[in-house]
Amino acid sequence: MSLDQDQQLRSGCHDETTLRLDSSDSRDLAKQPLQGLKLASHKVLEKAQQTGRLKCSKCGGSRMFFCYTCCSLVGVSIQEIPIKLPVKIDIIKHPNETDGKSTAIHAKILAPSDVTMYTYPCVPEYDMNNVVLVFPGPEAVSVKDIRRCLGNRSKTKLHDHFDEPCPKRLAIEDPNGGTQDAKNPEATDEAKTQESKVFPLQRVVFIDSTWNQTNKIITDERLQGLLQVELKTRKTCFWRHQKGKPDTYLSTIEAIYYFLLEFHQSFLVQEYNGEYDNLLFFFSYLHSVINKAKTSAGKC
Ligand SMILES: [Zn+2]
Repeated sequence: MSLDQDQQLRSGCHDETTLRLDSSDSRDLAKQPLQGLKLASHKVLEKAQQTGRLKCSKCGGSRMFFCYTCCSLVGVSIQEIPIKLPVKIDIIKHPNETDGKSTAIHAKILAPSDVTMYTYPCVPEYDMNNVVLVFPGPEAVSVKDIRRCLGNRSKTKLHDHFDEPCPKRLAIEDPNGGTQDAKNPEATDEAKTQESKVFPLQRVVFIDSTWNQTNKIITDERLQGLLQVELKTRKTCFWRHQKGKPDTYLSTIEAIYYFLLEFHQSFLVQEYNGEYDNLLFFFSYLHSVINKAKTSAGKC
């Protein structure tokens, strides 16, 4: 059995110490849409790559940058991390998904207090009124429709409890320019008032698996009632992109990042200022390393 060229490059992305590059090369090779991100300096990763693999202090495994088993950094310390996220993230991982290849672990390492990982068939009970699932199903809605769709669910299912206090209240945008708290009595449009009394979204679920394995998870009855949300305007930069799939099929860390970006732009008052860009800290670095390797191999 022999690996094809591409696969050899793929397997070398963060497991081998043979790739060498200097910082200017890596930046030149970063391609859209990964340019312009507000990232912590990649110098720590360049240095770690030159040092080579180290033993994880917890499990003893040989690792570079981070341990995908223990969810901890290895030979790297980054002050700008961890990142605080505006909603909780759950990642449901297919048991056959190789830990070392998954980008889901990036999210857990970079935002440990807001990200929880589960291995299927372990799936928590979700409240369909305040949890959404990111998946491009036939009924999926866009991020900006989340409030309206969850609001409709609340009105239908929980009409009697609508005035119950909700711990997760976000300021919402006032069409007249200012901001208002969700309980501001001056809002006159009844529908809008109803929808914006509380911001319903508390948790966002992502599935981490190959697209072919996803079907088993997505059809699980525990996920059936969840509103599905899609990110169809984004294109992947993932070097392990699955052949034959559209380039809008994102890797897990890209999906999480773009979801949060759209969420921020749609629902948070303050302008987006790179708050979650460091979720792509490892991804963008590895992307540049792979591009460099491909260029050296004459593949581009
Ligand atoms: Zn470990």
